[in-house]
Amino acid sequence: MPIRTAQRVAKVKPSATIAMSMKAAELKAAGRNIISLSMGEPDFDTPDHIQQAAIDAIREGRTRYTPVDGTPALKDAIIEKFRRDNGLEYAREQILVSSGAKQSLYNLVQAMIDPGDEVLIPAPFWVSYPDMVRLAGGAPVTLQASLEAGFKITPAQLRTAITDQTRLLVLNSPGNPTGRAYTRDELEALGEVLDRFPRVAIVSDDIYEHIWWAQEPFSTLAEVCPHLAERTIVVNGVSKAYAMTGWRIGYAAGGAEVIKQMRKIQGQSTSNPCSISQAAAEAALTDSQACVERMCKEFHKRHDWLVPALNELPGLHCSPGEGAFYVFADCSEAIEMLGLDGDQPFCEYLLEHAGVALVPGSAFGAPGHARFSFACSIENLEQAVERIGEALKPAS
Ligand code: PMP
Ligand code: GLU
Repeated sequence: MPIRTAQRVAKVKPSATIAMSMKAAELKAAGRNIISLSMGEPDFDTPDHIQQAAIDAIREGRTRYTPVDGTPALKDAIIEKFRRDNGLEYAREQILVSSGAKQSLYNLVQAMIDPGDEVLIPAPFWVSYPDMVRLAGGAPVTLQASLEAGFKITPAQLRTAITDQTRLLVLNSPGNPTGRAYTRDELEALGEVLDRFPRVAIVSDDIYEHIWWAQEPFSTLAEVCPHLAERTIVVNGVSKAYAMTGWRIGYAAGGAEVIKQMRKIQGQSTSNPCSISQAAAEAALTDSQACVERMCKEFHKRHDWLVPALNELPGLHCSPGEGAFYVFADCSEAIEMLGLDGDQPFCEYLLEHAGVALVPGSAFGAPGHARFSFACSIENLEQAVERIGEALKPAS
């Protein structure tokens, strides 16, 4: 007889971004010529000085358990980062270092959400938010934001979505999968609505903060609306800005009580994040930030090339973003032209006929779209666009 697994797990899907990237890797390993634009992962190596900090940590014997919530030195580097970049002040007990921002988010949802609680998630959303909420027994409530609205929710939309069950709002700016970001004024306007609902907490997922090219500087809700700082948990990490996805270091900052509960969960699941990675993250956050600027410039160049190139393809429409390394294109016309039944078959068609791996929009709560990650070389992007163009050509 098969082993019975828990019902709450049955409600959860595997991560579509990871699934598509794995599929692309399998096809490549089997000898197919595949260009993967599916993974949200910088293609750069971790900068040398960060690698060196990890090597030094090994040599110096920093290879043991650390405090569950991170080494004091890394926490101080994170506190300094918030002061420098965001004008936010935290004490050590307000910081939790985790194995990736993903684990910080997971801990937060587990610490806050009871069965029946509602979590507001603007769509298009990063694939993992709703499933984290489901695993906690909560109800994800999506707020649909359109391409015309810049893939951003409005204050009126937020106001109507809040109910007596609402416990948490997720903000992610610049966002995955859209690359779109809220301006300071837009955050202020959302803040005015949130002011009226003191029981609603906010998680601000700022993981793409440094992959940013808008005119106005990046801003985060807790900085723009200091009156909301007490009930805002900021999540960030080193994966994207420092090309450190495999090192698994992210962090959360917020009220001491919620951080304490998150720490308890981490202490009963994975304990501390890797001690060596923590030493590397400390170097990343404290040493020169020139590497971040250099990589960001490269992402910006690719973005500026890709957006018009996709708009030239038949049946694809997209608009420029302010940051991150994704373009989220409306493919509904192309899907119709090909006579396909939605974005999933469309992505399968492109994988088969163009050898290009994308992530279907439905995984992000936006059917009819597809996500193009430009965290790969410009040569790969050029080739991918050319091949998609061929695959979309009407049969003559
Ligand atoms: N939030 C968003 C929006 C992301 O795209 C990612 C990428 N995986 C994460 C959080 C988690 O990042 P990590 O766990 O690598 O720090
Ligand atoms: N965040 C990246 C992505 O969306 C990495 C994979 C994941 O964790 O979802 O592709």
